[in-house]
Parts: sequence; structure tokens; C-alpha cells
Amino acid sequence: MEFRLSDEEAAFQAAVRRFGDRVLRPHERAIDAEGRIPDEVLRAMAELGLLAMPVPTEYGGMGASAVLTELAAEEIGRGDFSMATAVFFLLEAGWGYLLSKHGTEEAKREVLPPVCRGEAFLGIATTEPTGGSDLANLRTTARRDGAEFVLHGEKAFVSGVEEAKRLGGGHLTLAKSSAGGFDFLYVPTRTSGVATQRFENMGRMGISTGGLTYSDVRVPERYLVGAEGKGFECAMEGFSVARTFVSAACIGAAERALETGRAYIRERRAFGQPLGKFEAIQFELVDLWTQVEAVKWQCRRAAWLLDTYPLKGDPSHRSEVDLAVASVKLTAPPIAFECVKRVMMWFGAAGYTKDVGLELGFRGIMSYLVGAEGGLNIMRIILGRELLGKEFLPYK
Ligand SMILES: Cc1cc2nc3c(=O)[nH]c(=O)nc-3n(C[C@H](O)[C@H](O)[C@H](O)COP(=O)(O)OP(=O)(O)OC[C@H]3O[C@@H](n4cnc5c(N)ncnc54)[C@H](O)[C@@H]3O)c2cc1C
Repeated sequence: MEFRLSDEEAAFQAAVRRFGDRVLRPHERAIDAEGRIPDEVLRAMAELGLLAMPVPTEYGGMGASAVLTELAAEEIGRGDFSMATAVFFLLEAGWGYLLSKHGTEEAKREVLPPVCRGEAFLGIATTEPTGGSDLANLRTTARRDGAEFVLHGEKAFVSGVEEAKRLGGGHLTLAKSSAGGFDFLYVPTRTSGVATQRFENMGRMGISTGGLTYSDVRVPERYLVGAEGKGFECAMEGFSVARTFVSAACIGAAERALETGRAYIRERRAFGQPLGKFEAIQFELVDLWTQVEAVKWQCRRAAWLLDTYPLKGDPSHRSEVDLAVASVKLTAPPIAFECVKRVMMWFGAAGYTKDVGLELGFRGIMSYLVGAEGGLNIMRIILGRELLGKEFLPYK
């Protein structure tokens, strides 16, 4: 067992932290206010190799391990507290990795290099207006027609709809297959028959969330990801990866909140002494730090498991990965939210202002409590299934 980062990992972590401090922090308020990540920020990320970083080098990525990607996600969550850059980063890392693993050679050569250069966006479209948790009952259909698939249906609350239209790119899209089961298809947003709609969110404003409507959308078979009819398993594999990076971004944001709070309670005085001397506040800091530290190592272990076991390998490994990922996705967003909330309260009235900036994290992290990348109860269902067996699933 080795808990220390390797020299290479520590140097990379330091480089991404510098990028977060010098590039993301100065831009985060504008990212939130203007509703997009500036092109120069994306260019800087591409130069550092941060875009879709687990994608193998032959497709333009850096072939990074899940552990290295996890470390980067922590730093990006710490750098842009609104979480918008973290979302952009982790979607491309998770779903870029999945496409590189299960896509056709032609699709990988066509789609991944521009994503890694920041010239196209890649995301995921599973949720529909009728719901996102119960994916087995989704309604979008994919009918095979010769060497094409014809898509009909509607997706909702999808991240990056505007980015994929503006930059190019698209979403890995889950649909009911005419072959039985589900197909997982890369659908470029600029395809004829695809319409987008932007939703007005309360946070992480720098990346759009919206709807996608498919009317007679023809997708070539080279865009099929995984085997025909086996798309559900493929999507679930991608969620394991993306949820690990979501959790890492939340941990980075939690650490940022605690750093901000720790500096403040050393200086701010009440009743003749620094706030940090009052145990009511000092012990809150200690308890929160302890929980963040625990979930951070839980998250790094989840990433290590992703690197160590091929996801589709031995079922006992599959179960170990599911337990690790679901438990970290269950704990990281709530503890990050709690850190931000508590630190806001240490700041008193100032915590409620935009000047202090804690509200950016408050609004951004909330997206992971309401459901992005799977609701907390869905994590509990996965954990219950693994701990008790499939016969204890709360539905048929
Ligand atoms: C900012 C943001 C960005 C998003 N980006 C994407 C994206 O890029 N692509 C995409 O496909 N989706 C995206 N989503 C959607 C996300 O995946 C869904 O919100 C999530 O899957 C939950 O689906 P739902 O919102 O339809 O809630 P529902 O499925 O309607 O569930 C509502 C609530 O009930 C709970 N619940 C559901 N079933 C059970 C059960 N059996 N037992 C107990 N509780 C249950 C859920 O946990 C949730 O709290 C995004 C969401 C947000 C907020």
C-alpha cells in the first residue's frame, strides 16, 4: 500500500494547481456572469493536456490514468469554484475515455482529436423530460436502417448543448434499440434534425444545460459505441468514471471553501479574540476537514480501482468498483456543500455577498445534490444492491 503521490503525480498536481490559481480563479466570476468558459481558458487547458486527458495519445489525449485525472479534477474544482470548468473537464475526460475504449476506430480518429484540442465538446445525453434516474424506461428510440440509425426522441438537462453547437461536437446518447436493449450513439449536435434548447439554471452558469430534440436524426453506424443493443452497460461503465471525477471536483471545492474559511477565522475577531479560538467554530473546521480528508482518499482509491481493474473484468472487481464509486459520489457532494454552507456562516453577513464569492460554490455544488451524474438515492440503490444482492432492489 502506498499513499504518497509519485514524483510525477505531485509535479502534475502542482502544475494544475498553478493553472487553477493563475487562470481559473481570475476568470471564475466572468465565467459565471457571462455564461461561458472563455476560449483562452480552453486553449490553456488544451496546452496543459487537460482536455479529455485519459484519451490515448494516438487520438490526441495524454493517455492519463484515472488517478492523474482525479488529481486534476480536484484542482479544477478548487480553481473555478463555480464548478463550470470542472463539469466541462470531467464530462470530456469520462466520456472521451469511454469513446476511446468502445468507439469504432473511425469515430475515435474523427471525434477525439478536436475534443482534446478544445475545438469540440463531448458530453452525455441520457436524461429525458420523463426522468433521469429510471434510465431503463427512457423513450428515445434508435431504429437501424441499413448502415445508419434513425433517432427519435427528446433529452433534457443535458450539459454542454450550447458548447457542442458553438464549438462543434456532440453527445453520447442512450436510446432504445430496434435490436432489443439499448444503443449508445455519438450524435453530433450539428446533425440535421437535432434541435437544442437552453435551460436557465441557478448555478455553474459557465456551461449550458438544456434539451435536445431528435426528429428523424440519421446517425452513421460508425458512431455506435459498444455493441448494438449493449449500450446500457457501456453508459453505466462511463458513469463509474465520470462520477469519480465529479466527486474529485467536489473535494477540490470543499478544500477551497475550508482554506477560505480557515484564513478568515484566524483574522476575524469577536469578543476580543479571533473566531478560530471559539471551539464552536474551531471544532466545526476540524470535523469538516476530517470528513473531506476521508472522502478525498476514498475518491483516490476509486480512481485507483478504475486503473487497476478493467471495468468489464471479473464481476467481483466490477462490484468493488461500483461500491467505491457510488459511496464516494454519495459523500463528496454533500460534504462539499456543507463546507461551503458552514464557511458562509463563519463569514456572517459577508458570507452572503457576491464579493466573498462563496455563493458561486453554493450554487454550483448544489447541481450534484439534485442529480447531475446520478442522484444520491441512486447511489444508495447501487450500494444496497451490492451489499444485499439484486433481490433487494427496491423496484422490479
Ligand atoms: C446541472 C445539471 C446538469 C446535468 N447534466 C446532464 C447531462 O449532461 N446529461 C444527462 O443525461 N443528464 C444530465 N443531468 C440530469 C441528471 O442526470 C438527472 O438530474 C438525474 O439523473 C436525476 O434525474 P431527474 O432529475 O429526472 O430526477 P428523477 O429521476 O425524477 O428523480 C427525482 C428524485 O427522486 C429520487 N429518486 C428517483 N428514483 C428513486 C428511487 N427508486 N428511490 C429513491 N429515490 C429516488 C432521485 O434521486 C431524485 O432525487 C444534469 C442535471 C443537472 C442538475
